[in-house]
Amino acid sequence: MIDEYGRNIDYIRISVTDRCDLRCVYCMPEEGVIPTAHSEILTYDEIVRLAEILAGLGFKKIKLTGGEPMCRLGIEKLIASLKNVGGIKQVTITTNGVTLAKKYEALRESGVDGINISLDTTDRALYAKITRRDMLDNVLKGLEVALAGKDMIPLKINCVPMSREQKLTDVALLAKENDIAVRFIEMMPIGYGSSFDYISRSEVIAKMEEAFGVLTPYEGKALGNGPAEYFTAKGFKGKLGFISAVSHKFCGNCNRIRLTSAGYLKTCLQYETGCDLKSLLRGAGDDNAIADAIISAVGKKPAGHHFGEEAAGGDEKKTMSQIGG
Ligand code: SAM
Ligand code: SF4
Repeated sequence: MIDEYGRNIDYIRISVTDRCDLRCVYCMPEEGVIPTAHSEILTYDEIVRLAEILAGLGFKKIKLTGGEPMCRLGIEKLIASLKNVGGIKQVTITTNGVTLAKKYEALRESGVDGINISLDTTDRALYAKITRRDMLDNVLKGLEVALAGKDMIPLKINCVPMSREQKLTDVALLAKENDIAVRFIEMMPIGYGSSFDYISRSEVIAKMEEAFGVLTPYEGKALGNGPAEYFTAKGFKGKLGFISAVSHKFCGNCNRIRLTSAGYLKTCLQYETGCDLKSLLRGAGDDNAIADAIISAVGKKPAGHHFGEEAAGGDEKKTMSQIGG
């Protein structure tokens, strides 16, 4: 779909749950969020029906997110069903990796096209401090399993720099030793993220160059769906990527919308604007009515965020775990 600003919107991030087995300080409160009742969360059949409608509107790529998508039972069945939707070319998932070792084979069988693992540090004590759970060993085991496979599912690591205690170069080493991308994502002032100072891309690049020498812009085959800019470094098998929504706003090229687990279609990360698709899915309307609602919502997709500027009203109140990142 081409929106009012000429952007081609063909990618949707679908949150399948607001539950999570971690409590990352920038994403969720310590006690967790009050979970949405199961009856209010879209069923897999409803998600697949929406994917079919979206494919009819030109959507090609789906990312499953959460909360923690692996916390939802049978996630691999949903992936397999979405892979069968005509027109959908890519189904990927983003996970904290806590249960990846156990679920990797089921994911592979589902046909998933890519896995993003969120990993902010390789230091166990700091990991426990950031996520409020001592689960680093599980994630590293998941990573080991994912890297060991013969036909490796394309893998990316996402790291949010947030504290000067983080040894970001240790996370980057994963891209030196393996043919994977490690991406540094600037902290966005959404939900609990607003309480943290973001560490800018230029600061992280300076740290990387100090440790690994000059970073060279990567100009090969596209590595993903979105705004990451990739670099290579001498001796690296993989790439380093930067997603810098705050210091390098990329809204002019935005290609995505989001669906919350409760069925609300969000057209911009920062604003509440969008439409409630669950009531349409569960009401008397047919697929055409739902398609019309999506067209109308995308038609009103904001031009961009205003992070760091004075609030203009309509700002999102949900936490990232409710939105899906
Ligand atoms: N639980 C899964 C995970 O951690 O990958 C999926 C959901 S999580 C909300 C998706 C991504 O959003 C994670 O990589 C997380 O680090 C990122 N995230 C959460 N809050 C953020 C914030 N305020 N700014 C930037 N990224 C954030
Ligand atoms: Fe859970 Fe992912 Fe949020 Fe961490 S970032 S609390 S793993 S949803």
